[in-house]
Amino acid sequence: MSLLEEKLEFILSRIAAAHQRAGRTDNLPRLVAVSKKQPAELIREAWDAGQTIFGESRVQEAQAKIPQLPSGIEWHFIGHLQSNKVRKALPLFSLFHSVDSLDLARDIDRIAAELGLFPKVLLEINVSGESTKFGFRPEQLERDLEDLLGLNRLEILGLMTMAPFSEDPETARPVFASLHKLREKIQDNHRLNLPELSMGMSGDFEVAIEEGATLVRVGTAIFGER
Ligand SMILES: *Cc1c(COP(=O)(O)O)cnc(C)c1O
Repeated sequence: MSLLEEKLEFILSRIAAAHQRAGRTDNLPRLVAVSKKQPAELIREAWDAGQTIFGESRVQEAQAKIPQLPSGIEWHFIGHLQSNKVRKALPLFSLFHSVDSLDLARDIDRIAAELGLFPKVLLEINVSGESTKFGFRPEQLERDLEDLLGLNRLEILGLMTMAPFSEDPETARPVFASLHKLREKIQDNHRLNLPELSMGMSGDFEVAIEEGATLVRVGTAIFGER
């Protein structure tokens, strides 16, 4: 087994263990292998080891790598999407984790209509309120939600967040718990079904799974430092 294969197996076993520990009976959370800044060869190695979902955060970089790699790969976009990149990004990705404003959502909706696409998206929430982070503040989401739901091209499947950086994964727990609560609240208030919660990275994915993550985005712990 290659080192990369071993690392992947280890992450998958930790995902399963956290899911079990939490007493969850739903499907196992899916692993998004965050391959930003990693070369195509390494991504292929992970694919050969059985990994199917990869996350990229820059459109140009993804545009260069995707054609070199197997067409069976499911590409997820996880970075901040600039409006002028939407047209290029839409055909490349099967899920956008990081729709972080109403303006961006409107741009995606308009361009998706032009391209005949119905993109699947998550809404990025800035739970912790750090000014350096993108995303809807929870109270802003409440205000924008009806407008977002009026964008007929968007298939809104859930919420995403990033916890503040910390050495201690427990610091992230209240952030993940808040995202989960927010999801329950808007599901109830708007009679929506938002099945996906994208939360947790290399340092805190187990805590995220204990708090209900359905997608975890792990880079460094699989591929090493970028
Ligand atoms: C880079 C990145 C990750 C992965 O971070 P690691 O600490 O390397 O696991 C996850 N989510 C987003 C949004 C990222 O930009």
